[in-house]
Amino acid sequence: MNPKPRVAFFDFTCCEGCQLVFLSQEDVLLDLVSHVDIVNFREATSRREDGYDIAFIEGSITTDEDVERVRHIRARAKTLIAFGACSTTGGVNKLKNRKPLDEQLRTVCGQMEKYPNTIPVMAVPEVVPCEYLLHGCPVDGSELRRLFLCLVTGKEFRQSNVPVCFDCRLKENVCLYHKQIPCLGPITRAGCGAICPSYGVRCDGCRGLIDQPNLNAEHSLLREFGLTWERLVDQYIVFQEGVVLAGDRLAERGAD
Ligand code: SF4
Ligand code: SF4
Ligand code: SF4
Repeated sequence: MNPKPRVAFFDFTCCEGCQLVFLSQEDVLLDLVSHVDIVNFREATSRREDGYDIAFIEGSITTDEDVERVRHIRARAKTLIAFGACSTTGGVNKLKNRKPLDEQLRTVCGQMEKYPNTIPVMAVPEVVPCEYLLHGCPVDGSELRRLFLCLVTGKEFRQSNVPVCFDCRLKENVCLYHKQIPCLGPITRAGCGAICPSYGVRCDGCRGLIDQPNLNAEHSLLREFGLTWERLVDQYIVFQEGVVLAGDRLAERGAD
């Protein structure tokens, strides 16, 4: 019998909510973990072992020490998973990169002789290659279960590559644009069950852009509301990486 895969969870700069999503799968948790050997998971066990096959990385890279640490983990793991928006795209943490670092430090810390060690925020795939990205802030529990099952059975995990609107329409929601609320569902990767628009809240794009977003359609919709990408970034959107990327791509194409 093959030994169970050794699994480790590591957290970097984040709220640790995605690890809690894993631990809150109470109905299947014992069954899930019975197929693996959890050798490192600060929120769940005191084991701290440096040999593992599969590593989940939660959080963003924000210091030089983080860069070294994530490279160390990458060198040991056969399979590396960027786990949650902080890790896959930089998530909320990337707001820090919108102003120069010294300006951000002065704003947050005031005048100091020596400022804390920090660097511009990077998503994990910007530093090391990852086998899988599990998107969302937080990750979706059912998608996490599916990934976990693929890992233990050796099957390939495929993430959704249709927009959130696809799930939203399946739920027969009234589109928020009809209520004058701008929404990033048309260009954001589905997989969350369109949870925000289902509760009347716009999609902020926490799962990042789909591979081939229909930027022209979203651009036209925003224009109808007198919104530009820049204003969207400034005033509305918390998960800015996808929106900034989308705006840049449109600008390259010369969209007005
Ligand atoms: S992706 Fe969201 S829930 Fe997950 S660790 Fe980051 S801030 Fe927390
Ligand atoms: S509410 Fe948002 S996600 Fe739903 S259909 Fe409209 S644009 Fe798409
Ligand atoms: S609807 Fe949008 S913001 Fe809400 S969880 Fe899904 S992808 Fe994230």
